[in-house]
Amino acid sequence: MSSSDNEINESASLSLGLFPEVVTLFVDVIVPLPLPNLLTYRVPAIMNDMIQVGARVIVQLGTRRILTAIVARVHQDPPKKYIAKPLLELLDEAPMVTIYQLELFRWVADYYMCHIGEVMNAALPSGLKINSESKLQYNPEFDVNTPLTETEGKLLEAVQEKNSLSTDEAARLLGQKDIYPIIKSLSKKGAVLVYEEVKEKYTPKIVKKIRLTRDYEDWEPLKDLIDELEDRKQYKQVGVLMKYLARVPVMQNRIANADGLEKSVLVKDDISESALKTLLKKNVFEEFEIIISRFADVPYSGDDVQLSESQQLATEKIMSYFKTKDTVLLHGITGSGKTAVYINLIQKVLASGSQVLYLLPEIALTTQIVSRLRKVFGDQMGIYHSKFSDNERVEVWRGVLSGKFNFVIGVRSAIFLPFDNLGLIVVDEEHESSYKQYDPAPRYNARDLALVVARLQQAKVLMGSATPSFESFYNAKQGRYGYVKLTQRFREAQLPEISLVNIRIERKQKKLKHNFSDTLLTSLKDNITKGEQSILFQNRRGYAPYVMCEDCGWIPHCHQCNVSLTYHQHTQEMRCHYCGFTEQMSHQCPVCGSTRIKTMGYGTEKIEDELKLLLPQARTARMDLDTTRQKNAIQNIVQAFEAGETDILIGTQMLSKGLDFDKVSFVGIFDADHIIHFPDFRAHERAFQLLTQVAGRAGRRNTQGRVLIQTGNPELFVIEKILQNDYEGLYEKEIPERQKFNYPPFTRLIRLIIKHEDEITAEEAAQTLANGLREKMGSRVLGPEPPLVNRIRNQFLKDILIKLEKDNINLRLIKEQIREEIQKILTTKQFKQTTVVIDVDPM
Ligand code: ADP
Ligand code: ZN
Ligand code: ZN
Repeated sequence: MSSSDNEINESASLSLGLFPEVVTLFVDVIVPLPLPNLLTYRVPAIMNDMIQVGARVIVQLGTRRILTAIVARVHQDPPKKYIAKPLLELLDEAPMVTIYQLELFRWVADYYMCHIGEVMNAALPSGLKINSESKLQYNPEFDVNTPLTETEGKLLEAVQEKNSLSTDEAARLLGQKDIYPIIKSLSKKGAVLVYEEVKEKYTPKIVKKIRLTRDYEDWEPLKDLIDELEDRKQYKQVGVLMKYLARVPVMQNRIANADGLEKSVLVKDDISESALKTLLKKNVFEEFEIIISRFADVPYSGDDVQLSESQQLATEKIMSYFKTKDTVLLHGITGSGKTAVYINLIQKVLASGSQVLYLLPEIALTTQIVSRLRKVFGDQMGIYHSKFSDNERVEVWRGVLSGKFNFVIGVRSAIFLPFDNLGLIVVDEEHESSYKQYDPAPRYNARDLALVVARLQQAKVLMGSATPSFESFYNAKQGRYGYVKLTQRFREAQLPEISLVNIRIERKQKKLKHNFSDTLLTSLKDNITKGEQSILFQNRRGYAPYVMCEDCGWIPHCHQCNVSLTYHQHTQEMRCHYCGFTEQMSHQCPVCGSTRIKTMGYGTEKIEDELKLLLPQARTARMDLDTTRQKNAIQNIVQAFEAGETDILIGTQMLSKGLDFDKVSFVGIFDADHIIHFPDFRAHERAFQLLTQVAGRAGRRNTQGRVLIQTGNPELFVIEKILQNDYEGLYEKEIPERQKFNYPPFTRLIRLIIKHEDEITAEEAAQTLANGLREKMGSRVLGPEPPLVNRIRNQFLKDILIKLEKDNINLRLIKEQIREEIQKILTTKQFKQTTVVIDVDPM
C-alpha cells in the first residue's frame, strides 16, 4: 500500500508539472523496543510542513503493533532494504523531546551498551506513550438483509447511532463483559469495522467548581433572593448561599466570584447537595470545570534562607570554582545545612534565567525537604517522583517544556526531563547507590549522567555529600572537581559521640537479652524517660533472615533461587527477597518432623517484636520496604515521629537518607557486622557511609547526640574510622588497595552476567565468552565466577568482570569487541537460550 501511495504522489507531480514538486520525506524514528536500528517511515505529504525532530509519531510495526515513536531525523532517503510504511499519526506540533535529550539518549545507549529504544522507554513517562483501544464503526457497505441475533442488532443500532463506539462502551451498553464474540461475529457479517483508535493516556486532573451567575454577583439581587428564600423557609438553600459567601468574598471583591469554589467543598452532605441542585436549576449558581496542577498542596510562603557564615563562605567558594570548573563537590558533615547552600545557589541560577535540576534519592524526596523547598520556590518547582502517578510525571514533563517549571526536584529518572537551558544540576547525597538503575537497561547512573547533561547544555554540577563516594573524592583530589568543605553543624550543633559495645564479649558474659546489650537497652529506656526520641537501625527487613530446624539443621530455601527464605511474622510467610516467592511458614520440619523451628538472625520485625517485650512502655514504629509500599506511607511514619507519637523508630537504610528530626538524641546500630562483611571492594566505603549517615540523624539540635554501635569486631579499621569520623583516614587506607587491585577510581568496570536455566550450559557459555574476550583483552578479563547468589528465578548466574584502564584505551573498540563476543555466544546453537546482561560501571 505504501509503495502505491508513493507512485501516485510521484506520477501526480510529474504529469501536473505546473505545481511545485511535492517532496517525499522520510523519518528515522526511535521505537520503545530493544532494537539495534532506528526504523525509517515515510511522511504522508500532508504532514510535511509539520514534521520535526523530537515530535512523537504513531507507527505500525509488523502487522499489528501500534507504537509511539520519536522522530530522530527527517530526510529524503528512502531505505534501501525495505519499503517504508507511512506514519499513521503525528502527535506533536512542537517537539516533545529536545535535541539535547536525543543527544543524551544516544550517549546513554552507547556508553551503557544498550539500545536507544530502551533509553526512550526509561526516559518517557508511559503517559507520553500511546495505547491502542479498539473502536467499532458502522460499515456503510453492510448488506442490511443479513440475519442478525437480537444482541447483535442492538449493538449495531447503537454503533449506527453514535458513529463510533469503543469496546468498553459496547460492553456497558449490552451489560455483559465478554462482548468480543459478538463484535467478531458482527465484523464477520460485514456489519461493523473494527479499528484502533490511539488515545493519549494522559488525562489532566479536573475539578468541578461552582460560582454565582452574572445575575447574582451583585448584592441587591442576592439580598432579595436570600430574603425571599427565608420567607419561604428554604433554609437549606440559604445555608448553601451563606457558605459560599463565607468562603468567597464576593461582596468585597466581585472578581473573586470568577474563581468560584470547589463543588466538593460546598457540598459535604446530601442535604446541601439537593439545595445546590435547586440553586443551579434556578440559575443562581453555575457549574464549571478547571484543570488543576497536581502539586497544589504546599503553599509558597516566600521563605528565604539566611545563610550562616560558614555556609556563606562555602557558597562563595563554590561560585568561584564554577568560574573554572564544571563540577564542584560539597563535602559537608551531616547537619551542616547543605540544603541551605543549594537553595541559595538555585535562587541565583533561576534569577539568571536558567533552569535547575536538583536530584536526590527517592526516599529523601518523600520527606521534609519537599515542603522546605516549596516554601521557598512555590509553583515554579516541579516534583518528579517515582511514586507519583504517571499523569503527574507527564505534567512535569510538559511543564518543563512550556517553561512552567524552571526548577525540578526529582529522582534519578528526572535526568531525562526535557530541559534545554540548564544552568545547574545539584546531585544531593551523590554517594548513594540508588542513583544507579540496576534493572532493566539502561543501567545508568544519574550522578554520572548529570555530568553528561551538564556538558551538553553548558551547565554546572554541584555534588553534595557528608560521605562522598571515593570516586568523586578522588576526582576532587585530582583537581578535576572543585572541592568545598563544610565542617560545622548548623547553629553549633555538635556531631554525635559514637561508642561501641562488643557484642561477642557480652554474649560470653551472658549479658545479652535477645542480642540487645545492656547499654543499648538502657540508652533506649533513658531516652523515653527524658522524653527524647531514638532511632534503631538494622539493615535487614522481615522477622528473621532464615529459620532452622533445631534438630536436623534443615533451612528452607527458595525453590527458584539459591537463597534461604526470610521469615515475615506479620504475614506468617517465608519470602524470597530475590524473586518474591512466598510460602506459608512451616511449623514442622519436612525432613525430620520436629516442631522445634527456630528463627535465626534479626530483621526489623523481630527487633520491634522483642522491644515490645523488653521495653513495654516504648511506642515503636518501623520503617522499611515492607511498611512503606503505599504512596504516603513514608510521610505518615515520618509525621508521626515528628509529632512525637513514636519513641523509637526502627528501620533499615531508609533511615539514613535526609531525615531531619529535632528530638532524636540517640541512635542505636543493632548489628554493624553484616554491613562490613560483604564481599565487595566497596564494602568498607559503604559501611562507613551508611553508618555515618545513620549516626548523623542524632543530635541535630541543641544537645549533643549519642550513637551506640553493636559489633563483634571492634578492632576493625573501618569501625575505628567511623568512631573518629575520619573519612579521609579511611580513604587514604583504601585507595592504595584499589590501585593495587585495579578497581575504580583507577579503572572502569564492566560486568557481564550470563544466565541460563541449566547450570552446565551457563558455565560453558560463560567460559566460552570469557575465553573469547580474553583473546582480545587479555588479563583485563576476570572470571567467570558464580555471584554470591548464583541462582535467581530458576536461572543460573555467572559473572565476568572486565577491568579497563581509564586512560590510553580505545573504549569504543573494546565495547565493540564485547558486543561481538556476546553476539557470537547468542548465535551459537547450544547457547541460544542464554541471556547476557551488560552492566557498565556496576555498583
Ligand atoms: P545536611 O543536609 O547538610 O545534613 P540540612 O540541610 O538537613 O543538613 O540542615 C540541617 C538542619 O539545619 C535543618 O533542619 C535545616 O533546616 C537547618 N538549617 C541549616 N542551615 C540553615 C539556615 N541557613 N537557615 C535555617 N535553617 C538551617
Ligand atoms: Zn528437622
Ligand atoms: Zn526466589
